[in-house]
Amino acid sequence: MCYYDNYKYQCNDWKWGNFRQHCNAEYRQGETCGMKMVYQTVPLADKCSMCDKIERKQRRLEKHKSDYTRWAAEPHKYRCSMEKAQDEMKALVQEIQRLIGEKQAKYHMVGNPRRA
Ligand SMILES: [Zn+2]
Repeated sequence: MCYYDNYKYQCNDWKWGNFRQHCNAEYRQGETCGMKMVYQTVPLADKCSMCDKIERKQRRLEKHKSDYTRWAAEPHKYRCSMEKAQDEMKALVQEIQRLIGEKQAKYHMVGNPRRA
């Protein structure tokens, strides 16, 4: 097991950082053994780019929802806008689901960080 920095985002997602230290396992010169262990956790002030993207889309979805609700009081006047908003909401929901799936796959692949 070799030791790496561990960057932790504000959203609790994380990524591996720089290589820090070799372990005692056998390894050839300049190589790491392939098993990653946490050397130190470095907190980051931001959310990860995936959460950021998802949140931006969720905010847009909320905006469409509130517009739609407002327009629904006068449907004869806003029929076109309401239809457009409905289409966009549908697309956004799909996009958000896709991003969440992508994020889960991404962090699943990295696995859980282990404490050294
Ligand atoms: Zn995140």
